Amino acid sequence: MNHFQSIARVPGDPILSLMEAYRVDSHPGKLDLGVGVYKDTQGLTPIPKAVKLAEQRLLECETSKSYVGGHGDPLFGQLLTRLVLGADSKAITAQRVGATQTPGGTGALRLAADFIRHHLPGRGLWLSAPTWPIHESIFAEAGLQVSHYPYVDADNRLNVEAMLAALSHIPRGDVVLLHACCHNPTGFDLSQADWLRVLEVVKARELLPLIDFAYQGFGDGLEQDAWSVRLFADALPELLITSSCSKNFGLYRERTGALLVCTADAEKLIDIRSQLAFLARNLWSTPPAHGAAVVATILADEELKNVWVDELEQMRVRVTRLREGLVAALAPHGLAQRFAHISQQRGMFSYTGLSPAQVKRLREEYSIYMVGSGRANIAGIDAQRFTQLAQAIAAVCGGR
Ligand code: PMP
Repeated sequence: MNHFQSIARVPGDPILSLMEAYRVDSHPGKLDLGVGVYKDTQGLTPIPKAVKLAEQRLLECETSKSYVGGHGDPLFGQLLTRLVLGADSKAITAQRVGATQTPGGTGALRLAADFIRHHLPGRGLWLSAPTWPIHESIFAEAGLQVSHYPYVDADNRLNVEAMLAALSHIPRGDVVLLHACCHNPTGFDLSQADWLRVLEVVKARELLPLIDFAYQGFGDGLEQDAWSVRLFADALPELLITSSCSKNFGLYRERTGALLVCTADAEKLIDIRSQLAFLARNLWSTPPAHGAAVVATILADEELKNVWVDELEQMRVRVTRLREGLVAALAPHGLAQRFAHISQQRGMFSYTGLSPAQVKRLREEYSIYMVGSGRANIAGIDAQRFTQLAQAIAAVCGGR
């Protein structure tokens, strides 16, 4: 018998196929605005200096490669929780928040998905439309009923009214996934006033928020980006937060992140954590240790932390400047107004508003690669080539 005969091929991840097409493109002026990683002026995804220094220390001091516990390194958990919720968090003081170390933010999302399916049966999961495509498959594959609330309209504008109207009609007790900052794929973030309104709806409908925090430090700053998360953690007894260290620590391949759970009281946290350890045990047993050890080493040492904070700030400022530079370069083509949203968006990504046909022309005629939805990774832009990029955009969308 041929066991695998009936298994068909699944279409590849469109972003990964885009990467491959870029790799084999021989055009000397090719530009990759597709894959979602930070790039520096050389087009490289650097290892932060603070990470290298922490790794040197670990190389000297690490004494064992034995398993870490089910929740990972407790110091990593404590320090990351403080980074996310703030040192003066009421939830931390009340000992009603705990971190479970996971393989990246993706692992945290998957653990959250299993937790919801097992322990909150029947609860639907609501995602923004659009959202990071992996959200769709993670929750669906974990067996949850996935639905959507509006977020960005077809005319490429954030529509908070439509979002709030939809949230106020979803079933009581359902889980709503919110992007803390740097919304992927659109780059459109809620204002503080919007967040306050979302919180009111969440309370009124007794929804359980699951906040995805994958870009802390890439929007308006380390503390500023956590504003929404801290607002919710202060105002609500129960909350799920997925935190990723991939982008802000440059640790992508080390798979470093955590699921933070806030509970009504310290006693309940112990029950919930026992369940999370059980679920994690069946997913990956214990988490990978290296990235978390690096993060803990950096956050525990004031000097190293300062080095990291400066580096992260440089990355953030570079992306902000690239946004402004692109809009300025589009001005001579009469397109500054049309693309003004690019400088208002936050994080690495921008829903540019370019149509799939325009994206295709950019790729075929100018070797400029972005995702079919019109999502561009702003960090992939080369500041030396604003003019070239602006000319190509103008050519495909009828600018001067
Ligand atoms: N959430 C969002 C919105 C993301 O964009 C990403 C990374 N692309 C993640 C979670 C997960 O990141 P990782 O698993 O690499 O830590």
